Amino acid sequence: MRLKNKVALITGASSGIGAGIAERFSNEGALVAVNYRPDSPRDRDAAELAVKSYKASAIAVEADVSKRDQVEAMIARVVKELGRIDICINNAGIEIKHDFLETTDAEWNRVLGVNLYGSFVVSQAAAREMVKQGDGGRLIYISSVHEDIPFPGFTSYCASKGAIRMMMRNVAMELATHRITVNNIAPGAIATPINKSVLENPTAFRNAVSEIPLGRFGTPDDVASVAVFLASDDAAYVTASTYYVDGGMTQQVTLY
Ligand code: NAD
Repeated sequence: MRLKNKVALITGASSGIGAGIAERFSNEGALVAVNYRPDSPRDRDAAELAVKSYKASAIAVEADVSKRDQVEAMIARVVKELGRIDICINNAGIEIKHDFLETTDAEWNRVLGVNLYGSFVVSQAAAREMVKQGDGGRLIYISSVHEDIPFPGFTSYCASKGAIRMMMRNVAMELATHRITVNNIAPGAIATPINKSVLENPTAFRNAVSEIPLGRFGTPDDVASVAVFLASDDAAYVTASTYYVDGGMTQQVTLY
């Protein structure tokens, strides 16, 4: 067990990559707080069902990550019910496809609000607790290969993920003296609900797979393996880095 008795908060953990990380962390002995968004009964049900299935203690915690008051209440609840916070996985994210020339302020603000501001405010609130505790910690952002690679039609998403890359490097410098390490995981194409339209379209799916040297979509568990490493004592000397989990996709010249 590589995370025994560590307390981990994972945002947007009722589906996809977040759910995969929460399950793996629990199997590694962590006490897990599974965050879900308040406006979705389906996400709440999935989060509550998941925590009941874990062997280690776990709680489902509601919060819209783009709302500071909800985030601070969530962090307070994690500390009250699980005792502390050691690991914060900033995973919640959305994308809206719209050409740059047509993108509205509302679309831009929603994507940047959840992906970038949400990652800022959750990691800041968690880091403040870690600093108070005084014995280090782990911040991990789930960015994307699009922290670096353009994705036409998704300018707001790419801007949010590129900014997370820079935020991560800066925060790593500021928190190093507190022994809080800060890293990004940049997934490529992972089979989750965010990719529903590609997964359900055989032509788009074939084209996508042809862009991936390892010849398949990744799974949430592929991402969770790297998250376990970064959260564990094995990664004590790793900070300010991006780990690509993309089957080699970033080395290709075109994207689906
Ligand atoms: P997903 O849609 O299954 O997961 C996103 C989760 O975020 C959902 O559970 C959703 O309810 C939650 N969420 C959305 N808005 C929220 C809010 N305001 N407050 C709290 N939770 C909120 O898709 P996923 O693929 O698992 O995505 C997880 C992360 O991985 C995202 O940040 C995404 O950008 C990133 N990512 C995914 C891929 C991929 O191919 N699947 C690739 C690169 C990066």
